[in-house]
Amino acid sequence: MGLERPAPVCMIYPSPYRVGMSALGFQTLYRMLNDEGPGAHRAFLPDDWEPASLKWPAPKDPMLSYEQRRPISDYRILAMSMSYELEITGVIRLLEGAGIPLYAKDRGPRDPILIAGGPLTTTNPSVLLPFVDILMFGEGEEQLPLAVDKILSNKQRSTAIEAVASMPHAIRGELEPGHFEPFPTQAKVDKSVLPAYSAITTPNTELADMFLVEPERGCSRQCTFCVMRGPSTGGMRLLDMKEPLGLIPETAKRVGLVGAAVTDHPKLEELVDSIVQTGRGVGVSSLRADRLTPELVANLTRGGYKQITVASDGISQRLRDQLQRRIKGESILRAADLVRADPNVRGMKVYNMIGVPSETEDDVDELIAFNQEIADKVRLTLTFSTFVAKQNTPLDGQPFIGVKEAEARLKKIRKALGKRVQIRPQSPRWAHIEYLVAQRGAESGHAAVQAVYGGGGYRAWIKAFERLEPLPRPLVFGDEALKARRARRASEREEKARLRVLP
Ligand code: SF4
Repeated sequence: MGLERPAPVCMIYPSPYRVGMSALGFQTLYRMLNDEGPGAHRAFLPDDWEPASLKWPAPKDPMLSYEQRRPISDYRILAMSMSYELEITGVIRLLEGAGIPLYAKDRGPRDPILIAGGPLTTTNPSVLLPFVDILMFGEGEEQLPLAVDKILSNKQRSTAIEAVASMPHAIRGELEPGHFEPFPTQAKVDKSVLPAYSAITTPNTELADMFLVEPERGCSRQCTFCVMRGPSTGGMRLLDMKEPLGLIPETAKRVGLVGAAVTDHPKLEELVDSIVQTGRGVGVSSLRADRLTPELVANLTRGGYKQITVASDGISQRLRDQLQRRIKGESILRAADLVRADPNVRGMKVYNMIGVPSETEDDVDELIAFNQEIADKVRLTLTFSTFVAKQNTPLDGQPFIGVKEAEARLKKIRKALGKRVQIRPQSPRWAHIEYLVAQRGAESGHAAVQAVYGGGGYRAWIKAFERLEPLPRPLVFGDEALKARRARRASEREEKARLRVLP
């Protein structure tokens, strides 16, 4: 696909190939532009530019497209997908390395037009604004092909940008210093466009040799920390199980069912059963403990699972309830029983999140006691992320726990459980940087450049953010916008009622 054909678009991903090619949205847009559009090639961050700490600027590298070894600066359109805040380092390195002017304001008539979108636009993509010509919000399947058409039918770079910026879910980047446009609403594609599915299966990805397809999109639940929650992204769109099944190519050895809430699909058991019946391996992107059954666990192990992974998120029942996670400790214990009962499963992994608002030492003690109980049943691995408040969620604006405090809690957990349980924490330091970026406006993009130039380590980021003005309360977006609209309507109603009773 796309190998021989000339293409006006290069799809770029600010992480290495193995990560980018595991992103279903990226793969889907690449497939669509090749099947139905004018053609697209791909480029990724070189592997040796991935480490967080790296001397920079590095010598320029002729950044070439994967398909035709053509410099990415030669393409008319660069379409970039970004999943989360810390990939901004990759954006800076990729653009600078390729010799493309880093800032949108510095590009001229012969430079490519850089359009960005992706999962980050469900929350706060402000960090991208200094670098992109166009930022597109929400789902891309209908927007991107249209934007590409508009650019190709406008010879002049500036008029092409204007044409795309007039689309309902798109804004201009920081083309003029300090000039920003309000965030638009997020695009949501018609159900007829679904499902997204892989263009290519490759052995060199995080999900090696797996054909990816979505049996549903979105989530109808309301976990207060999550950017995929129903009220923020428009809920869940279910597909009849025949649709993903009908798309699996003969050659696929493994099938990955991808989606925010795949285990909420009412036909999940039958779907997994149908896949493993054909002798294929299977993967499910997220398993809810309360949706596991003996049959599902048996089919997952037939499909290659050695370990069952579920999420707890809050580290105590009080916190799970507070986060509206709607998972009971009993369900996690029951999942451990199912794992123990299946001789083909080696163990269980549970995702946890420390540092959520109001968390105390009592919650940490409950986590320790609870997981001792689970460890009596199964071989257990616990992963820990640190809570980062995201815009467009009810917990937006909540403080970060602090690196020292998070490390102290992890140390206590490791001391209590480390002999029996594998503890795999993500770095609280990088969660702190993610928090700083997630809570700021476009100034975080400028700080990111300083951080990358300062070597990209944690101290360099902190120094760069310390140079900024204290945090202003930034955007009105999503839940907040809804709340503001409701408050405005309520005050308008009050005003009308007041006018009616006036003599
Ligand atoms: S955490 Fe999972 S279940 Fe909760 S809203 Fe997000 S995607 Fe849905």
